[in-house]
Amino acid sequence: MPQYGDLTFLVSVKGKRKLLRIKENEDWQTQHGLVRMEDIVNTPFGGEVKSSLGVPFRVERPELFDLIMGIKRQTQIMYPKDMGIICLKLGVGNGRTILEAGTGSGGLTIALSWFSGEKGTVHTFEAREEFHKLAKKNVAWAGVGQNVHFHHRDIANGFGIDDPEILNGKKADALFLDVRTPWDYLDHARKALVDGAPIAFLLPCVDQVSALLLALEKGPFDNTEVIEILVRPWKAVPDRLRPADRMCAHTCFLVFTKHQEKSPEWDSCLKLGTRERKQHAAKMKRLGLDVEDMEDNQDFENTDFQD
Ligand code: SAM
Repeated sequence: MPQYGDLTFLVSVKGKRKLLRIKENEDWQTQHGLVRMEDIVNTPFGGEVKSSLGVPFRVERPELFDLIMGIKRQTQIMYPKDMGIICLKLGVGNGRTILEAGTGSGGLTIALSWFSGEKGTVHTFEAREEFHKLAKKNVAWAGVGQNVHFHHRDIANGFGIDDPEILNGKKADALFLDVRTPWDYLDHARKALVDGAPIAFLLPCVDQVSALLLALEKGPFDNTEVIEILVRPWKAVPDRLRPADRMCAHTCFLVFTKHQEKSPEWDSCLKLGTRERKQHAAKMKRLGLDVEDMEDNQDFENTDFQD
């Protein structure tokens, strides 16, 4: 049953969805008559409530997905489809400390807070005061945030590893960066994270991804992946099942990497095909390193490790 103070969906027969907070004595006036709050709190989720004109509305519980899509946005939207894999890859959960920048409207902050649970901690950093304030409001509106520390701070000044008011010397377990030039903050990231920590990045444009990859290859990072998540909706009609006519073509690229140290022997032990050798030589040239060690080791069999 919904309670006073809860956010609840009222869904019309035409599928129109109104997300509202149930407040005593603040009945909802619609063109189909008045819906009484007292009736809503006496209707189980999934049931129907009738307006004063006898029109039915379904009472539905909003899920995390709906809360994130329902916040007030003044920054670029981040979609739930991208948030799921970010939380999994960063290992967001009880007992973990996660860093996020920038906070923006707080969409991802809601998901990070939700998955962090009672024993997890989120530190989120936002340079612009208006977004910092908006995100605080949005996260509170969604009914989460008890485990979130909001910092009005430009991460060009670091993540506050030595600041008693922020990390106070305790390194974090993972970082998510949604800023325009994330490669500018890799040194700060390294200082604020435990060894081997994962980092995720969100970037809308492919030239930003290239710039980030060039910065990451200088190390100490590896296991770098670039992905794009496409959701293809289908018409849920059993006897005429087919994809919907339209879909969202692009939201962003996601880049995942991990802190990894690399000895000079690491690359020289790789056995590469012709194309990879060329790519590797180009990379070594960019990094101003010698490729000869690698050439000397081409007999090395990496299958030795497969046992
Ligand atoms: N992920 C957010 C969400 O789900 O709502 C949206 C983030 S928004 C696209 C990017 C934010 O990063 C902006 O609010 C911007 O002000 C902030 N930002 C950019 N550079 C920053 C920096 N150096 N330090 C802190 N915040 C920064």
